[in-house]
Amino acid sequence: MSERPPFPGDSLAEAGLNRQFVFDLDALPADLRQTLGDTTGYRQLVLLGHGGRRLWACVQASGIASEHPIDDYTVRTVESWLAAQLPGRAYRIVYPGEQPVGLQALGKLAGWHHTSPFMVGVDNEWGSWYAYRAAVLIDFQFSAFFPVDRGNPCLDCRSTPCLTACPADALVGGHFNLQTCSGYRLQPESRCAEGCLARQACPVGAEHRYEAAQIAHSYRRSLAMLRHYLKQP
Ligand code: SF4
Ligand code: SF4
Repeated sequence: MSERPPFPGDSLAEAGLNRQFVFDLDALPADLRQTLGDTTGYRQLVLLGHGGRRLWACVQASGIASEHPIDDYTVRTVESWLAAQLPGRAYRIVYPGEQPVGLQALGKLAGWHHTSPFMVGVDNEWGSWYAYRAAVLIDFQFSAFFPVDRGNPCLDCRSTPCLTACPADALVGGHFNLQTCSGYRLQPESRCAEGCLARQACPVGAEHRYEAAQIAHSYRRSLAMLRHYLKQP
């Protein structure tokens, strides 16, 4: 069998997609693989994320001014990377998209994800300032990735400033109460319409905290989805 080439991810990292992992589809748990839809004809899944501020700076520099600029920039970047690195090979971008891809489960396998009290993933390097940006099925096999687990900061956190920063007491005892959080966010005077105060109170990875404009963009979007889901005006 010929040797597999290493994943050529430098240009993606340069473009802000600086968290990368490649899974052999055959090695994924069946229930997780199912979240990808029909994988016939593909051999690997590329999971891309961003950590820190670079991606947002790249999105701003791209001039994309659509409703979902991060997604649109990501898809454009990934498509041009695929054209350069895997010309003529079949691929399918399953995220962003309609497919309910198990992103956090993939993140756990990659060593990226530890659950925080406010339910966003954390690790010791990035804190909570990273996110999943793309999942792409490819008809190719790069060399294997090995999980790099940077550890769970919450295990050693004694002062737990995230818990006390939540104005809705949605994290009492370190347990996230979705209903309480959502109810508070939807209030007209909510202080969490454009950000999660608990998330911003966590000191881990604070140097990677997104720019205020990115935080506001992401949380306005999640609030709009919440309203849509609950059929609120
Ligand atoms: S403040 Fe402490 S408990 Fe809260 S997310 Fe950060 S490390 Fe975890
Ligand atoms: S969004 Fe606000 S209410 Fe919800 S967990 Fe974060 S701080 Fe608490």
